[in-house]
Amino acid sequence: MTKLTDLTITEAVAGLAAKKFSAVELTDAHLAAMERPDARGMNIFTLETPDIARAQAKQSDARRAAGQAGDMDGIPLAIKDLYCTKGVRTTAASRILDNFVPTYESTVTQKLFDAGAVMLGKVNMDEFAMGSGGVTSAFKPTISPWSGPNPAAAARHLVPGGSSSGSSASVAARLAMGATGTDTGGSIRQPASVTGTVGIKPTYGRCSRYGIIAFASSLDQAGPITRSVADAALMMRVMAGFDEKDSTSIDTPVPDYVAALGGSVKGMKIGIPREYRIDGINPETDALWQKGAQMLRDAGAEIIDITLPHTKYALPVYYIIAPAEASSNLARYDGVRFGLRMPGENLNDMYAATRFAGFGKEVRRRILIGTYVLSAGYYDAYYRKAQRVRRLIRNDFLDAFKQCDAILTPASPGTAFAIGEKQDDPLQMYLEDVFTVTLNLAGLPGICVPVGVAQNGLPMGLQLIGRAFDEATLFTAAAALEKAAMFNAKPAFTA
Ligand code: GLN
Repeated sequence: MTKLTDLTITEAVAGLAAKKFSAVELTDAHLAAMERPDARGMNIFTLETPDIARAQAKQSDARRAAGQAGDMDGIPLAIKDLYCTKGVRTTAASRILDNFVPTYESTVTQKLFDAGAVMLGKVNMDEFAMGSGGVTSAFKPTISPWSGPNPAAAARHLVPGGSSSGSSASVAARLAMGATGTDTGGSIRQPASVTGTVGIKPTYGRCSRYGIIAFASSLDQAGPITRSVADAALMMRVMAGFDEKDSTSIDTPVPDYVAALGGSVKGMKIGIPREYRIDGINPETDALWQKGAQMLRDAGAEIIDITLPHTKYALPVYYIIAPAEASSNLARYDGVRFGLRMPGENLNDMYAATRFAGFGKEVRRRILIGTYVLSAGYYDAYYRKAQRVRRLIRNDFLDAFKQCDAILTPASPGTAFAIGEKQDDPLQMYLEDVFTVTLNLAGLPGICVPVGVAQNGLPMGLQLIGRAFDEATLFTAAAALEKAAMFNAKPAFTA
């Protein structure tokens, strides 16, 4: 029999229903894996919650015995440490939230628990979700299970992408069956791409942001990272939905994403945006992209060329808007209400000392940029202009979707880089998101599916982009791509 930690969520749900194993057994298998020294050496968890997990698993078995099992009953998950979890320390991987224990639960985690999911622990990330490698965390950097036979001791520690670094690493390493992530500019899709996992950022407004620590409110979205498209559909169905506690969540029905998996791509029009063939694109990324297009063509889709003319402005626009919103959102960490407080001679002194000690370098850089672009005299030149260009980027997509049903692009420029690489050059790091930020600016959904392995043995994914609130079409196309790609490579470390 397949190891319990190797099952997909879909397989585990069936196994639990058939009483092949219990939720307690499934959870114990994952807890045992998590607690191995080589697993702990990857710095994936910021907090392990075995007691909560065992209690939830026990309750799950009781519910099942009573015939009341939910859609994800007994499934062990990792929760990104950006989601507020009631009574459980939540840090955003920042020193400034050192010992912050929320008194409430985020809507998305509540929905998962209501469906029966089990929380194994909170997982590592870039500080306040700012980064692409999990390296700006105030904890140790997250190490990818793809790094080597013993990742923690490997010669070269690779990143599992970011900012949802612990989410992608835990799922790839088989320490968790699925994980929650968040995506402001690519933080679900890029980590999925470099760890050989599936990640979807739904349409802005599809999932509630209530209880998710804010980075850039007009861009942030919650979504799952899993090992199969079917698992992502299952998790999305639970996570999505209107929430009156989030004024930007949209009151529209959530389709049955699992049912969408059986659909056909015959006659579907898939656009290939020429502007994504950026200068100096990695030849392997380009080849994979063409291969992916061929797979969809073979499955009956029609591949057409499209244009998204304002693509080249997406990164600069993102790096004006995201820091602007972040500087405003992070103003609340002043040493008065949450977490860390450093002593000062007077109130201003205390603010400054707390913020200096509490925020890491990248977060400070973003706050400075954000404050600058919002300040009088620069607001028109930067922020207002960026908002206008953002609209043009969105219009590009609206035009493109008059011709096609989904768009296929690379998900990340290359395979996983090493910890330490790109760290001294923020612009290199920002380029990691060149294929993903456009969607956040336009509010559109995107899914990353693992499609191939590069010559260096590391996984590579492709991204499908959909119309607003049309995640169902994305699941249909992603399932077809997954089926054709038959990706089955495993990281060096698996539980
Ligand atoms: N890497 C991007 C950034 O640093 C995106 C992060 C994210 O999506 N949270 O801002």
